[in-house]
Amino acid sequence: MQQTLSGLILRQRPQDDDRVIHLLTREMGLIRAYAKGARRPRSRLAAGTEALCYSRVVLFKSKSWYYVDAAEVIDGFFALRQNITGLSLAAYLAELAENLAPEQAEAEEYLRLLLNALHLLRQQSREEGLIKAIVELRLLTLSGYMPDLVACSACGLYDAAGFYFIPRRGELICADCIPEPPPDAVWLRSAVVAAMRHILYAAADDLFAFKLGQQSLKELVAVSEEYLMTQIERRPRTLDFYHSLFIQP
Ligand SMILES: [Zn+2]
Repeated sequence: MQQTLSGLILRQRPQDDDRVIHLLTREMGLIRAYAKGARRPRSRLAAGTEALCYSRVVLFKSKSWYYVDAAEVIDGFFALRQNITGLSLAAYLAELAENLAPEQAEAEEYLRLLLNALHLLRQQSREEGLIKAIVELRLLTLSGYMPDLVACSACGLYDAAGFYFIPRRGELICADCIPEPPPDAVWLRSAVVAAMRHILYAAADDLFAFKLGQQSLKELVAVSEEYLMTQIERRPRTLDFYHSLFIQP
């Protein structure tokens, strides 16, 4: 049986003349499919099965495997491919989505999040760090790792000049409730707490629509990555590569 789906190619693995594509689709979440002959010159499957391409694919299922019968590029994000840090960040966000999005279930919000992030990275209109933190926290939220940022977990205080955040518990605690914070506690100023709350709760259309000062942005980027690492307990290879681009030789 054939079916036509729209999806983002999160990555592709070469296999002789063929490609195995890892696809994030709106209708069915994560799918792996075999694109026969996609690496041959002039293959009609070549363009639409490239990593970070948003494509319309016709899939055929045989036993437990999907095969790509046709692949047409909807958006190849070509301009993004000229920008090495943007492209590397996109590859990392794709790897995260592959770890966190569902299989065999609708994944509209995941797909939309990734496509919006890729679009903004291509435009270079927002800071990369902001896009990175938003996608990390939102992906965690969508996939069941939402931290509890409503209020101090001990006394219920909502508004303060800042809170401690405990990454392994995903909780806030106010300075009065924890006079001696544990070593893994991260102090967050109120602007960072507000930004994180926005990322967790905003409607998809408003998600990227906020600004942060440079220092707050730095703290958001750090705490978001810290929280992600304590929750998923493995370091994506693509993240190390992204960071390596900023190390001065
Ligand atoms: Zn408190």
